[in-house]
Order: sequence, then structure tokens, then C-alpha cells
Amino acid sequence: MIKICCDPGHGGNDSGAVYKGRKEKDDNLAIGKAVAKELRRHGVIVDETRTGDKTVSLKERSNLENKGSYDYFISFHRNAFKPEQAKGVETYTYLNAGVKAKGLAAKIQAALVGIGFTNRGVKEANFHVLRETKAPAVLVEIGFIDNTGDNQLFDTKREEIIKAISKAILSQLGIKYVEAQPRPPTGKTLYQVMAGSYAVRENAQRQVERLKKAGFDATIMIFRP
Ligand SMILES: [Zn+2]
Repeated sequence: MIKICCDPGHGGNDSGAVYKGRKEKDDNLAIGKAVAKELRRHGVIVDETRTGDKTVSLKERSNLENKGSYDYFISFHRNAFKPEQAKGVETYTYLNAGVKAKGLAAKIQAALVGIGFTNRGVKEANFHVLRETKAPAVLVEIGFIDNTGDNQLFDTKREEIIKAISKAILSQLGIKYVEAQPRPPTGKTLYQVMAGSYAVRENAQRQVERLKKAGFDATIMIFRP
């Protein structure tokens, strides 16, 4: 059985990079959870370092990874520099990583460049989660959260990003990607509750914060009328 450890960066008290009310921890979790779901759909066993907005230290992340014997460890992040000054995707391995980590990093990088992100290359870094994990480990920075163009790409092509990363991982594992079957209608009706529509993302983010404070599990959904 193939086992993967998915690691959505930051969470809880640690927002990661923040730009105009948008928090890296939320983007990381959204992608991490969706990729985990896609991998499970293909029979891969996936453990996650967090599945909600929870504070998890770097040590706790590597400890969790060290307890299992994983085929790969994949950390999801978004980059930041100076407002609107940098853009693109980069994927990291540890220093002098083996062919497995390098291979996976190259595939994830190419997949995201294929979606339209600027190619900043596969790089090496002495990051805790790359150094202290036992499995071949990669960390992907899915565009810059402080770049409007990258955020637009992230939001408009979210499903493609999830699919591209999942496909890249599955290809590295030697598993063929199978398109999800459209679900047959169940005959059930679902009633979803909305609490506002905003033309500016910051305002939507503020509403989410208000709802979260009031104890509601709110999230931003994107509609293109
Ligand atoms: Zn980060």
C-alpha cells in the first residue's frame, strides 16, 4: 500500500503570509485537503498533519511523519515577498535530495507551470519539514499570496491546480489518473445558507472572520456570474 503524508503549511495561530486579509494557512489547507481526497480516490493511503484551522508546530509535523513509514511527504504553501513584486511557483527538496524527491518536485513544478504560473524552478532548502522527515519530501509554494495575478490564477484555476498536483503525485507513484465520475443526481435537495456576496475578496474575508468569530464554519466560495 502506498502511503503519503500531506502537510498543509501553517494553521491556527500561525496564519503564514497574509495579504489584504487573505491568509496563506487557508489556501494551503484548501489545496492540501483536496489533493488528499484525490489521492484517496486512487487508493492511496493519506495522512494529514492538519485537516482544520489548527496550530501545528514544525516539530509536531515531522514527529507525525516519523511515526509512519510514508512513500512521500508533501508540504503545501504559498509564497510571499514584497507586495506585487514577485510571482510564480517554486518547489523545494532538501539539500542533495534523492531521485525520488527530485522526481516528484520536478513533476509538481511542471504541472503548475502548465497551468500558467511563472516557473521559478525546483530548488533546495534546509527547511525543517524537508530535513526532519524520513520519506522523500517536497514543499511546493503555489504562487505568491502577495501578487494579485497569482491569486487570480489560484482562484480561477483552483480545480485545475488540485488536479495537476494530484496527477503529478500519482504519476510519480506509477498510478494512472482517472477522471472523477460525475455523481448521479440523488434526488435530494440541499439548502445552502449564504451570508453575503462581495466584489472585493477582502470584504468576503472580513465576513468570514465575523462568522468564524460567531462560531460558524464559514468559507469563501467563488462564483463567476
Ligand atoms: Zn508558508
